[in-house]
Amino acid sequence: MAYGEWVDEKRVVEVLRDLVQIPSVNPDFTGGNGEREISDYIKQFFDRLHIPYIVQLVEKNRENVIGILEGASEKHLLLEAHMDTVQVKGMTIDPFDGKIADGRLFGRGSCDTKSSLAAMLSAVESIKKKEAIPPVSVHLAAVVDEETTYKGVSFLADDIFHGKLRYDTAIIGEPTNLDIIVAHKGVIRFCVEIQGQAAHTSSPEKGVNAIENMALVIQHLKKLIVHKRGQLNHPLAGGPTLSITMIEGGVAPNTVPDSCKITIDRRTIPGEDAQEVWEEIKYSLKTIENDNPCLKLIVYEPFVIDYSMESSPGDPFVTGLLKSVAKYKPNSRITGAPYCSDASKLTRVGVPAVVFGPGNINQAHTKDEWVDLQQVFDSTKILIDTIMEFKVD
Ligand SMILES: [Zn+2]
Repeated sequence: MAYGEWVDEKRVVEVLRDLVQIPSVNPDFTGGNGEREISDYIKQFFDRLHIPYIVQLVEKNRENVIGILEGASEKHLLLEAHMDTVQVKGMTIDPFDGKIADGRLFGRGSCDTKSSLAAMLSAVESIKKKEAIPPVSVHLAAVVDEETTYKGVSFLADDIFHGKLRYDTAIIGEPTNLDIIVAHKGVIRFCVEIQGQAAHTSSPEKGVNAIENMALVIQHLKKLIVHKRGQLNHPLAGGPTLSITMIEGGVAPNTVPDSCKITIDRRTIPGEDAQEVWEEIKYSLKTIENDNPCLKLIVYEPFVIDYSMESSPGDPFVTGLLKSVAKYKPNSRITGAPYCSDASKLTRVGVPAVVFGPGNINQAHTKDEWVDLQQVFDSTKILIDTIMEFKVD
């Protein structure tokens, strides 16, 4: 039986449009209003369906909402999607009207990741309206703060770590174009500063040029990553990368600069330990200082460490999900991604997780963000199938 036929496509559009029309820009971005209004909408959504839910107060005015659809077994499936979006500055469309044209729905979050959230809500609604009891209990977690510091999923992961919640497997909703992501990279972000000595540029030898010395550090870091890439590669997530993303230094055109600071983004791959990678970089930077005694280097502790993740592509849940997906999109793949997601916080507490959802990552965060509605319908059908055909042994 094709459970996916239970989908009500009109209703999917309605839910997605509702979600897009509620602004939920992460408060860490300028003008961000937060997730309060959208979490209220989700509570009302569950209330109307008589679906019980847990509220996790992550911080003031920021709540995760976890709806519970009881199943016939002890197995628990987690469906998780974030409610926050990135900023709307620079958008060329109305970010919050949810306009529909040519089979696409437009607006901030339409792709990343309100389409996933709408598919999950609609799948649960369809099952509840049929009064069907799925073989697995489903927890639908709408969480805060994915776009900056992962506070929502971290709160959830903490409850899992302490045994308050338990899941056998998880689907994290993000725009994967209906591919199944089983591995993705992590990231370490940190700053390095060089202190020099100011002097008039008519006699530069009287100073120590921090910017010119930083060039040595940059070259050193780039050599280091080229070497690493020669040693390491993940078949699905690719190789590690390092990018210098910001630089500041200098005070005037005719002054030898006495300081220069760079920001570094180092992507780690599954199998690399973030702490070890960091220690190795720190140690290696010390060696340039030893080789160049005039060079004063300050290496700051990372301001972001996010972990890579990997689930088994041969896991029966993953192959089962692929089978459901193939009914609607035959060329879908089990693959990896270079970006980070909430999934790594769950795999770290022992929940096998995959990232899956409608929409293309190329449309996420863009000035005219949109999602292909057919993919949202397909995604809803796939979720209904996956829940109703969940193998309990
Ligand atoms: Zn996202």
